[in-house]
Amino acid sequence: AAKEAAASGAASKGGPTIFDKIISKQIPATIIYEDDTSLAFRDINPQAPVHFLVIPKHVDGLTQLSKSEPRHEQLLGHLLFIAGKVAKQEGLDQGFRVVINDGAQGCQSVYHLHLHIMGGRQLTWPPG
Ligand code: ADP
Repeated sequence: AAKEAAASGAASKGGPTIFDKIISKQIPATIIYEDDTSLAFRDINPQAPVHFLVIPKHVDGLTQLSKSEPRHEQLLGHLLFIAGKVAKQEGLDQGFRVVINDGAQGCQSVYHLHLHIMGGRQLTWPPG
């Protein structure tokens, strides 16, 4: 948790992140869905048998959910829609979880808004 908190603090400055390089294909990722405004790829450190991220491709200030603006409303809905669509594509018919870690206390470490989708095992509640 201390490590996560430190990572969150270090990453909170803004600017390009590792996810921008995934969007531009400068670094590899296992992309499982892509459209004009969103991208889904497998998490490099999976916390469940299926763990992928859904991100907006054109961040435009949308680094955190808590910093979203009215103009982001449609895109935020789209990201959730795509999370469900790709979860189905991934065979998560027994259920799954969608998580957004927002800000330092939410343990956000990459400041490019992303939805975690996890499934493929029985999940427990609450998270830490
Ligand atoms: P946390 O690290 O506390 O989970 P976030 O919610 O910001 O914080 O999650 C960032 C996620 O991005 C992590 O699950 C991490 O494994 C994942 N990640 C980081 N770099 C990559 C990468 N190059 N490819 C795929 N996933 C990545």
